[in-house]
Amino acid sequence: MSQENEHVKCLIIGSGPAGYTAAIYASRADLKPVLYTGLLAGGQLTQTTEVENYPGYPDGIMGPAMMENFEQQARRLGTDIRFGYVSSVDFSSRPHKVVIDDSKTILADTVIISTGASAKWLGLESEQKYNGFGVSACAVCDGFFFRGQDVAIVGAGDTAAEEATYLAKLCRKVYMLVRRDEFRASKAMVHRVLNTHNIEVIYNSEAKEILGDGQVVTGVKIFNNKLHAEKILDVTGFFVAIGHHPNTEIFKGWIDMDENGYIITQPNSTRTNIEGVFACGDAQDHVYRQAVTAAGTGCMAAIDAERYLAAKEHAVTI
Ligand code: NDP
Repeated sequence: MSQENEHVKCLIIGSGPAGYTAAIYASRADLKPVLYTGLLAGGQLTQTTEVENYPGYPDGIMGPAMMENFEQQARRLGTDIRFGYVSSVDFSSRPHKVVIDDSKTILADTVIISTGASAKWLGLESEQKYNGFGVSACAVCDGFFFRGQDVAIVGAGDTAAEEATYLAKLCRKVYMLVRRDEFRASKAMVHRVLNTHNIEVIYNSEAKEILGDGQVVTGVKIFNNKLHAEKILDVTGFFVAIGHHPNTEIFKGWIDMDENGYIITQPNSTRTNIEGVFACGDAQDHVYRQAVTAAGTGCMAAIDAERYLAAKEHAVTI
């Protein structure tokens, strides 16, 4: 296999709001960043429809168009944007070694990890068919489009409980599909769900098929595994809230993570346990998971990288 090495000051991995914001700041700080997009260039927002809660777009914007704007801004400011995925890393010495597409090794003085997270899906064919057309994995992003309508949400953890109560404020009725006869969510969250008048919890039930008219969602077929009975719920929105997984597998063994794989950063910074490696966006945030918060931590990561490099240079010259 041919090996080709390249030395860069700042390598950014991932192309969601965190990665592109880091790129914008790193470019303006003259770090000459190289950004590898990963396989899903533009990240999770390329899979949503309209984004109405990102500041600066008074009329809203489609997710893919917004990510093109991020990319163009980073490119105009000088970021070297490349399509490719990171296949392995070696953070045992500096500069850090990052292998791209199993073939090219980048030697990087600083690495900014912004690989994001992916929503878990049920795996139904109809779920993918109507993704963005009634099916969503983010109530905070998309709940607004279902104001006054009836929706269903699947999941029984804290995320599902939180999102169900969020949806209940906007929607007429929220059906909550719990696959066992009990919740996984904390007692306080369950209490809130059970005390919200327009949430109906349906236990022992799973979604079998999302129904639609070819364009948008019109219902969901559910199966009660205790009664062995099928039922159709008339809903226009179907929310999946069965968890997320951070895209951090390739950093395991090098970077400190919590039990769910989220990267641990030091308080009030994006520094990881490895000097010169910073993490931002959903790869290190399981609490907020918003485009605007990801962008904010991307900015922090670039500033942290710049200050780290400046301190190193200063130490060499004195
Ligand atoms: P969890 O892993 O805690 O819960 C996932 C839920 O989805 C479970 O109830 C599980 O059911 C259900 N589920 C999984 N697969 C399926 C399926 N195929 N069909 C139907 N249901 C399914 O994920 P969360 O995202 O809820 O939470 C992740 C972490 O973040 C947790 O530690 C949580 O406490 C934390 N969190 C905290 C919040 C807060 O404190 N405000 C808010 C949100 C999250 P089952 O129970 O049967 O396995």
